[in-house]
Amino acid sequence: MSSPDPDRPSRALRSAELLAIGSELTNGETRDTNGGELAAALAAEGVTVRRISALPDDLGAVTAAFRDALASADLVVATGGLGPTPDDLTREAIAAAVGETPEVDPELEAWLRDLFGRRGMPLLAVNLKQAWLIPSATSIPNANGTAPGWWVDRPDGRVVVLLPGPPREMRPMWTGWALPRLRERGLGDGRISRTLRLYGIGESTVADLLGDAMLRRANPIVATYARADWLDVRISAVDEPAPDGGDGRPAAAILHETTEAVRAALAGHVRTEGETGWADLVAEAAEAAGVRIATVEAGTRGALAALLAGVPAVERCIVVGGAADADPEAWPVEARATDAARDAGVEVGCAVVARTDTTRTSLRVAVAVAGDEESSVMDLRLFQHGEHGLFRAAVATAAFLIDVLGPRGVDRDRP
Ligand code: ATP
Repeated sequence: MSSPDPDRPSRALRSAELLAIGSELTNGETRDTNGGELAAALAAEGVTVRRISALPDDLGAVTAAFRDALASADLVVATGGLGPTPDDLTREAIAAAVGETPEVDPELEAWLRDLFGRRGMPLLAVNLKQAWLIPSATSIPNANGTAPGWWVDRPDGRVVVLLPGPPREMRPMWTGWALPRLRERGLGDGRISRTLRLYGIGESTVADLLGDAMLRRANPIVATYARADWLDVRISAVDEPAPDGGDGRPAAAILHETTEAVRAALAGHVRTEGETGWADLVAEAAEAAGVRIATVEAGTRGALAALLAGVPAVERCIVVGGAADADPEAWPVEARATDAARDAGVEVGCAVVARTDTTRTSLRVAVAVAGDEESSVMDLRLFQHGEHGLFRAAVATAAFLIDVLGPRGVDRDRP
């Protein structure tokens, strides 16, 4: 299966429209998560997503939506409706919108026959629809299903990408196939970005420290995103043309300078960058300290074990049930941490207990990290409860554990 024609007229793909196709979306049975995921990926590339629409399995409506989208956006990405049944009509709709006729592609048919043969299933006439192509389309291989995607080139350089609806099929086809080829065509405005991940500081304090002038600038854009486990500060920049047509400032220089300024303003709170998570940071800290860890938790429904799943240094996680409202005296974290390390035969034990307060509005959390000779204890109150509160308690435990193990992975400006 080939790549799209590299000699197509080049057109910068700066704007996009996303279509989520399927009556299960418009009748509320399924929520469109593909639209949000694709929009986030495109925004990160500096593409302006003009519209995200959900459409029923209606040939007229989907064809009209493709026509409209192609009249305004450089790139159209549609998900869903690539199955074999008559109500899967995304291929018919794009064919009608661009005035072409689908035909069975011999190469795709051979692939489909082989796939069905290996699964011991007969290839029915209806399935052949999944081997269709139109002359301006290139097929996108699907390693997790029977519906190949389509990449459609328009004569004016616009591109249409069709992907299957199930996220587990859509995602790898998008990230592994479509996105790299879209980048080759010139995706977005050349924007580059970095994300600083902060912990232990609120969004309003960050806004205050960075100041209006920095947060309102058009280039670079500095934006904050409050997530369950991090406060992310994303800085993105494009090349700045010189007013007189001479040399401007490259995006990389703008990004570097602003990132340094943001780091200085938020000294002590930047824990990491990019997509790094708490499990990665605990793994790094344990490796740097040369220790293995055992954890024990009560009243947290296993939130710490879930957060640290896959960390090589964590050798044992014990989850104690039913202790959420236990008497603190009956669950002394320091002793539990010491016992956990000793029982598992590792260097470091970490214990956490969370108790919901009587008004059920906050959580009292006690954490201990015990090493060979000394232990450290932290008490805190989180004004969250339920699953969210327990997750925050696990994050607070991981942050404390990292601090006790040594300030690796912690911002160099941290006091
Ligand atoms: P396949 O032939 O693999 O089923 P398809 O392209 O025909 O692919 P659909 O039949 O439209 O896909 O959808 C199949 C399932 O994928 C839906 O029932 C739903 O669970 C999921 N899905 C479809 N569209 C979306 C979407 N936009 N967001 C999240 N999930 C979706």
